[in-house]
Amino acid sequence: MDFELTEEMKMLREMTYKFAVAEFTPVSHECDKEEKYTPEIRKKAAENGLVGAWVPEQYGGAGVGILGNAIVTEELSRVDMGIGLNIVAATFGLEAIYYFGTEEQKKTYITPVCRGEKVSAGAFTEPDAGTDVASYRTRAVKDGKDYVITGTKMFITNGTVCDFYVAQCITNPEAEKKHSRFSQIIIPADAKGITRNKIPGKMGVRSSDTADVSFEEVRVPQTNLVGKEGAGFHQLMHFFDVTRVMVAGQCVGISQGCLDKALQYVKERKAFGVPIGTYQLSMAKLTEMAIRIELLRNLVYKTAWLIDTGKPDYTLSAMIKYYGGQTAVYCANAALELHGGYGYIDEYPVQKFYRDAKVLEIYEGTKEAETLTIGRVLLSR
Ligand SMILES: Cc1cc2nc3c(=O)[nH]c(=O)nc-3n(C[C@H](O)[C@H](O)[C@H](O)COP(=O)(O)OP(=O)(O)OC[C@H]3O[C@@H](n4cnc5c(N)ncnc54)[C@H](O)[C@@H]3O)c2cc1C
Repeated sequence: MDFELTEEMKMLREMTYKFAVAEFTPVSHECDKEEKYTPEIRKKAAENGLVGAWVPEQYGGAGVGILGNAIVTEELSRVDMGIGLNIVAATFGLEAIYYFGTEEQKKTYITPVCRGEKVSAGAFTEPDAGTDVASYRTRAVKDGKDYVITGTKMFITNGTVCDFYVAQCITNPEAEKKHSRFSQIIIPADAKGITRNKIPGKMGVRSSDTADVSFEEVRVPQTNLVGKEGAGFHQLMHFFDVTRVMVAGQCVGISQGCLDKALQYVKERKAFGVPIGTYQLSMAKLTEMAIRIELLRNLVYKTAWLIDTGKPDYTLSAMIKYYGGQTAVYCANAALELHGGYGYIDEYPVQKFYRDAKVLEIYEGTKEAETLTIGRVLLSR
């Protein structure tokens, strides 16, 4: 058993962290405050192979696999999770095309995103159904050679800045099994009948673009179907199995960022004549953070490595998402407490880490949803 990262992965980690510090730090506060999306940084990241790092080289990616992508995500999120999300989620939705799409779809949609020329979005959640993915209502009705799509999607990352959506739609409403009614369809963002509105006022990841998107009789060719008609539900489940590793990478990164900031602060700040880090109660917080981060990082790397080596264990994907969100929230809270009153004002980045971390328990499957996934597997054994 070899836990050592390869030289390539170590270099990737170092390069990504340096990139994030140089590019994110000067604009982090402003982008958070003013909810500014960061297209220029995304383009620069693409030049450095950080957009779609998981995508094989033949489709324009860096070809570093799911493990490399987890490391990239970790190092970006360690500095600013919102700006990092603009880079790692530029490919959100493409996973479905990569696993289930045609060769032509892969070249048309994946490659320009990796080059920084286009942005993708995964449009699944609806106003009345998030966790309950079998209750989505967006319909795609066949008409001649087209699908005509009507419905509304909610909380869509990159919703107003993307060039296309990979959307979950009902194509087979009569199918006996509810799960066999869905298909995934690519919808160009400039198609007639689309209205998209940015959702302002998010608590965290404020530089990420989040939107509601309405499709009103939007017409796309049937060749935009991704994978098989009626297989959309199962394709979506597989999609989450893989993308949860990316989210868990965010969890490791932001947790490490909190520990970095906390360590720096407790060495400088004095109370009763000595640095607060010398107090055992401070050490207990730092120690607990470090242990949780180490556990999470190891489990994330293992999960990613298993996928890359063709032996995926998707229960682990649910576990790292479950444990990761809670680790991030724990670390952000501990870092803020160690900063005392200064942690509560926006001059110090820990309050932003605290706000950013919470979404990790919500998107890509709430922690309750992950509990159900893991519990069902345990009971079926
Ligand atoms: C910043 C942000 C970005 C997002 N980006 C995207 C995106 O790009 N694409 C996309 O499609 N979606 C996106 N989402 C949506 C996100 O995935 C959903 O918000 C999430 O899945 C939860 O769905 P919901 O909000 O409808 O909550 P609900 O499903 O209504 O859940 C509300 C509460 O009920 C609990 N609950 C639900 N069912 C059960 C159950 N069976 N047992 C116990 N508890 C249960 C949930 O755990 C939760 O606590 C994003 C959300 C946010 C906040």
